[in-house]
Amino acid sequence: KAQDIFGAYKDYIMPTYTRLPLIFVKGKGMKLIDIDGTQYLDFFPGWGVSSLGHCHPDVVSAVRDQIDKLIHLPNNYLSVQQAKLAKEIIFWSFKGKVFFANSGAEANEAAVKLARAYGQGRYEIISFTGSFHGRTLAALTMTGQLKYQEGFKPLPAGFTTVPFNDIAAVEKALTDKTVGIIIELIQGEGGINVAETNFVFALRKLCDEKKILLIVDEVQTGLGRTGKMFAYEHYGITPDIMTLAKALGGGLPIGALVAKREIADTLTAGTHASTFGGSPLVSKAALAVFRAIQKEKLLTNAARMGDYLKEKLSALARKYALIKEIRGIGLMIGIELTIPGTHIIEECIKEGLLINCTHEKVLRLMPALQVTKKQIDKAVKILDMVLGRL
Ligand code: PLP
Repeated sequence: KAQDIFGAYKDYIMPTYTRLPLIFVKGKGMKLIDIDGTQYLDFFPGWGVSSLGHCHPDVVSAVRDQIDKLIHLPNNYLSVQQAKLAKEIIFWSFKGKVFFANSGAEANEAAVKLARAYGQGRYEIISFTGSFHGRTLAALTMTGQLKYQEGFKPLPAGFTTVPFNDIAAVEKALTDKTVGIIIELIQGEGGINVAETNFVFALRKLCDEKKILLIVDEVQTGLGRTGKMFAYEHYGITPDIMTLAKALGGGLPIGALVAKREIADTLTAGTHASTFGGSPLVSKAALAVFRAIQKEKLLTNAARMGDYLKEKLSALARKYALIKEIRGIGLMIGIELTIPGTHIIEECIKEGLLINCTHEKVLRLMPALQVTKKQIDKAVKILDMVLGRL
């Protein structure tokens, strides 16, 4: 049976991903179960999507409840669930309005269009080296890692990339056409690089002075990942525009663009759209995500367990010279190695632990926000064992 699946992938699915030969059929909380019934402890659930763990019961029952009533509704009508979700997002973020899409890249594309509409002739957007904003063309152009752009030129015009955490570089890149600056406050795919507080402050100030939009990409950091609902709260700033996706839908595909009220209204009727955006089904799931975060006090747990995990990993770092640095906020943690991490990932899989490696040498841990000390102890024990064998 597994052979049939491998064969179907080979014959019928485009080879755009480096896939591990694992076929998963079931997920519950922190666990993933493969086709042979083997259980794995998932410390990187859904690349940041399954932040409540797999098949969270509240998301499951919200979807069950909605699916019999109305799955999809086009955006020329009004949906109760979409209205409630927009209100919830604004309650947790800042005074503004929401546009619903289906993915992170799509939310970022919408941010570019909104910025350009707002700019009235100003159109340039500055982004940072090491960033990742998605695979569609404008998002790819803003992504400050050349390897993703190779082979896809010409890229759209009007984008500049400057070094991360370098305010002088931003100032130098400004022109009279600059309309926006997009930033991930913790770069995920780039290797868990945390923006410095002074830099973010200076960025906010610069944007205010020059009437430039500060666009914060919270696709990976949003919905409690860092111990606060949104990563920008750690910095004491408010974005002009924020993009969300991944964890927002509890596993269902959703993207959202949030913009301050005076900016949001520049995208008028007919200027932007997304057929599936904010359907009743995904909106209902996303509402369940917000409820679960509150009900289970997951922001507090993410902050506490993040500290605990970092403490445990720091002890490993003292033991193994090949660990260069432990960094991150809350439950978004990177372990920078002196060697490539692929082999370590494979060895962890053999021991029943799923983690990720990004930027070649950075192991990335982003367990579900409900993670317990016991599960952290188990994961760290496996890592310790694997590192000890190298
Ligand atoms: N922005 C950030 C920060 C991301 O991490 C990602 C995906 O990893 C994206 C945007 C793109 O999201 P999607 O894959 O949903 O298009």
